[in-house]
Amino acid sequence: MVTLKDFQSICLEKGLRATQQRYEIYKILAGTTSHPGAEEVFKQAKAIQPMLSFDTVYRTLGVFVDKGIISQVEILAGKVRFDGNPSPHPHAICTVCDKVVDCHHMTNPHPKDYSDVPGFATVRSAHLELRGVCQECAARNTHRQAVAQ
Ligand SMILES: [Zn+2]
Ligand SMILES: [Zn+2]
Repeated sequence: MVTLKDFQSICLEKGLRATQQRYEIYKILAGTTSHPGAEEVFKQAKAIQPMLSFDTVYRTLGVFVDKGIISQVEILAGKVRFDGNPSPHPHAICTVCDKVVDCHHMTNPHPKDYSDVPGFATVRSAHLELRGVCQECAARNTHRQAVAQ
């Protein structure tokens, strides 16, 4: 579990003021690998700090991303999810339920492998992103088909 002291030293390094409110929001992300969306973070944060508004949570998440304290994963249709782990790593996304899973056993492709993009002088980063159907959704679908038959 990330302590207030941990959070204070992260903030000091990134030039951000460590407030109690920010700590509570950070703790939610640092304590999960479920890549929650802003609404989910808000729901959990509000349970601890009832005065918190969605706006504040949303803005704080944006500040964390800007400062490189957390990262964001963009799934389809502009939906954004947040990741307590700021270092780039491959993700697998379920296209049925939007589940995001870390693939730490895989490596991101090297940007040097993609140096020949037409009209580009440099390529700085490349991410491996897998899309598919998670086991739970696949099982549910099999079940539905069995019922329909
Ligand atoms: Zn799924
Ligand atoms: Zn992740």
